[in-house]
Amino acid sequence: MKHLDEFRDPQMARSLVGEIRRTTTQRRVLMEVCGGQTHSLLRHGIAAALNDSVELIHGPGCPVCVTPAEAIDFAQTLALEPNVLLTSFGDMLRVPGSSRTLLDVRRDGGDVKIVYSPLDAVELARTQPDRHVVFFAVGFETTVPTTALAVKQAAELDLQNFSLIVAHVRVLPAMEAIMQSPGCRVEGFLAAGHVCTITGFEEYNNFADQFSTPVVVTGFEPLDLLDGILECVRQLESDRCEVSNRYARSVQRRGNLSAQQLMDEVYEVADSPWRGLGVIPQGGYRLRSEFGHFDAARRFAELSEQMGCMIAPPLVQLSETAAACITGACPQNECRSGEVLTGLIKPVECAAFGTRCSPESPLGAPMVSAEGACAAYFKYQRTV
Ligand code: SF4
Repeated sequence: MKHLDEFRDPQMARSLVGEIRRTTTQRRVLMEVCGGQTHSLLRHGIAAALNDSVELIHGPGCPVCVTPAEAIDFAQTLALEPNVLLTSFGDMLRVPGSSRTLLDVRRDGGDVKIVYSPLDAVELARTQPDRHVVFFAVGFETTVPTTALAVKQAAELDLQNFSLIVAHVRVLPAMEAIMQSPGCRVEGFLAAGHVCTITGFEEYNNFADQFSTPVVVTGFEPLDLLDGILECVRQLESDRCEVSNRYARSVQRRGNLSAQQLMDEVYEVADSPWRGLGVIPQGGYRLRSEFGHFDAARRFAELSEQMGCMIAPPLVQLSETAAACITGACPQNECRSGEVLTGLIKPVECAAFGTRCSPESPLGAPMVSAEGACAAYFKYQRTV
């Protein structure tokens, strides 16, 4: 293994790799749905070391990568509105929308500010009452409780100048969509430990039964990943399809109940567009009606309607171009992120990889984000 000696316990790593090889009677296909895990698998040479026994394909585990181009376009439009301050996590600034990035918009005079927490955006709204502060809320279940807290805080302060672009997504419906997609080769899943810290893992039981697929909750450390892979192949080799928690030091069966309560108070589950996968039933969240006045798509309804913005309920019909961009087949761009995000191709199979597309000059979100699969391949591994 490329970096075996860098493991905290190299002997244990060798032992797990050997056990995975001995256990598999055929090459198994597993998918992780967590950008942190993708990077760890490549960085530590695990994908390459196991390549003869296990094919690791990388699912849509990068929240920045699956944020629809249309939501990014909407954020850009708001940033150019007078008296509007658009706040966002830093990763989102370099992700292309239909034609440009939030960084481009900032260079053109748009008001865009990086924040490290949605609570910082609430504080900006509180201290700058003459401006409207919009927070671009992206991310999986891990970040939803914090934005829910921000909304509650804004409500308690009775802020009239704060809103969110809600682009949060849920992992399990995406896994279902992948299993139902034509040509799906996934035999087992490594479930994202950080998401399960919030959600728990009970909700995976029906999924494992319905699709006859093992689901193994794992962490990010290389030994956690090797242990999770071993559990997954053991199940496959003994015709078992169970949910197994191999990250018990962080994940409880029912997850973080107070975080879930906070999320339920502020958000409800809704159909949601994912870049690369299309609209996924129950694939995201929207604000509950009592917090609807914090929805930027409603506050700026005219703009969002003009843009056919899907983040505003009810969902509206998309233009052909916008729909194509959401499904990853944008005619303005040769990026094959849709196929990368669903595991149909590896980043290196995209003709633009490493030539016309690199972290310095990205054509698509998976090359921009710190959690993107294309960025991981570029940084750690050009083949596999
Ligand atoms: S290498 Fe670049 S162009 Fe190709 S799929 Fe990845 S992000 Fe898109």
